[in-house]
Amino acid sequence: MKPEKRDIYDVIIAGGGIGGLINANLLASKGWQVMLFEKKSYPFHRVCGEYVSNEVAYFLKKIGCYPEELYPAQITRFQLTSTNGQSAEMPLDLGGFGISRYSFDPFLAIQASSRGAEIIENASVQHVQFIEDHFEVKLMNGAVYRSRVVIGAFGKRSNLDSFLNRRFFKKRSPYIGVKYHIKGDFENNLIGLHNFHGGYCGISKVEDDTFNLCYLSLRAPLKKLGTVRKLEEKIIMQNPFLNRIFNTATFVFDKPVVINEISFASKEPVSDHILMSGDAAGMITPLCGNGMAMAIHSAAILSEQVHWFLSGKTNRNDLEYRYSLLWRKNFGFRVWAGRQIQKLFGTRVLSNLAVSLIKNSGLLSGWIMKQTHGKYF
Ligand SMILES: Cc1cc2nc3c(=O)[nH]c(=O)nc-3n(C[C@H](O)[C@H](O)[C@H](O)COP(=O)(O)OP(=O)(O)OC[C@H]3O[C@@H](n4cnc5c(N)ncnc54)[C@H](O)[C@@H]3O)c2cc1C
Repeated sequence: MKPEKRDIYDVIIAGGGIGGLINANLLASKGWQVMLFEKKSYPFHRVCGEYVSNEVAYFLKKIGCYPEELYPAQITRFQLTSTNGQSAEMPLDLGGFGISRYSFDPFLAIQASSRGAEIIENASVQHVQFIEDHFEVKLMNGAVYRSRVVIGAFGKRSNLDSFLNRRFFKKRSPYIGVKYHIKGDFENNLIGLHNFHGGYCGISKVEDDTFNLCYLSLRAPLKKLGTVRKLEEKIIMQNPFLNRIFNTATFVFDKPVVINEISFASKEPVSDHILMSGDAAGMITPLCGNGMAMAIHSAAILSEQVHWFLSGKTNRNDLEYRYSLLWRKNFGFRVWAGRQIQKLFGTRVLSNLAVSLIKNSGLLSGWIMKQTHGKYF
C-alpha cells in the first residue's frame, strides 16, 4: 500500500545520487520522516569513474551500506601515463573498490527504503521556497510538499542551481565527461589514469568482469572534430595505452554516456537555507577519484547536524553556520588541491613531469595523494 502523503516531512532531499541516498539512510535510521525525490528512475548509468576510495569503506560497513553482496572489485595499485605514453606505477595507500553506479545507487535506495525513507523516482524538483521556518518544495508535475529541512543533493549541475541563482552556474565550464563499460584483458586491481591532449581517461574494474572507462576532456576539440568517435581517434588514442584499450576492448554500451558543463568552481554549502551535500556543495576534480567518498563523508557530517537540529538541540542559524564551517574544514583544501593538481594533466610536458614525480619521488607523490584524500572515519 502506498504511504499517505504527510502534512510536513522532517527532511526532504532533492536528488538521489550518492550524497542524497546516504543522507536518506542516516536520517531515516534515526527515525526522522524523510522524503527523497530523484528526477530519473533507477537503475541508470551516470558519467563517473566508479572507483570509491576506501576512506569510506569502514563507515559504509558500519551503517550497513557497503555493497558486499554486489562483489565490488578491489583496487590496490595506481598507474599514471603521460600523453606520449611514459608510465609510472605506485601502490595505493588506502586503495578503493570499484562498483557501477547502475548497481550501487539502487542498492543504497533499497537500503534507505528499508529504513523508512520514502523515495519517489521520476520526480524532478522545480523549486524550493523557505517560508516562515519551513520549506515548500514544488515538483515539475505541480505537487507541493512541505518539510522542516531541505537537503540539496542534486549533483554538479541542476535546474535548481539556476533557480537559486548560484554564481558558478552563470559561468560556462570547458569540460565534458564520457563513460563506457568495457570488457577485455585488463588488470583487475589496477586503476589507470591516462593523459591525452586536453584531458585524462581512467580505467578500473567494477563488479562482474566489467571495466569502467571514463574520461574528462576539454569541449573545444570535440566541437572542432564534430563527434566523440573522432575525438577518440584523433586525440585520445594518441596515448599508446589508450590506443590499446580502445582497440582491444569490447564495448558494452551502444553509445557512450556523455555530459557537458562540469564545473569545479567554488560553491556555497548552504544556499537560501538549503543544506547542500555532495557535488551540490562543491566538486573535486575526478582525477582524485574521491568525489563519491566526499559525497558520503559530507552526508555523514550533514546528517549529524540535521539530527541535532530536528532534536531541538540547535537552532537553524547554528545548523547552517556549523555545517558551512565543517564542510570548509573537511573539504575546502582538498577541492582546491584537486584543482591545482589537474593543471599537471592534459599536456605533454606537464603530464611527463607528473609521471617522473611518481617515478623519482615516491614520498612526494604519496604526500600529494594524501592532500586530495581524507582519512578513514
Ligand atoms: C568524468 C568524471 C569521473 C568521475 N570519477 C569518479 C570516480 O572514479 N570516483 C569518485 O569517487 N568520483 C568520481 N566522480 C565524481 C562523482 O561522480 C561525484 O562526486 C558523485 O557522483 C557526487 O554524488 P552526488 O550525490 O553529489 O551527485 P550525483 O551522483 O550526480 O547525484 C545527483 C542526483 O540528483 C538528481 N537531480 C538533479 N536535479 C534534480 C532535481 N531538480 N530534482 C530531483 N533530482 C535531481 C540527478 O538525477 C542525480 O541522480 C567523477 C566525476 C566525473 C565528472
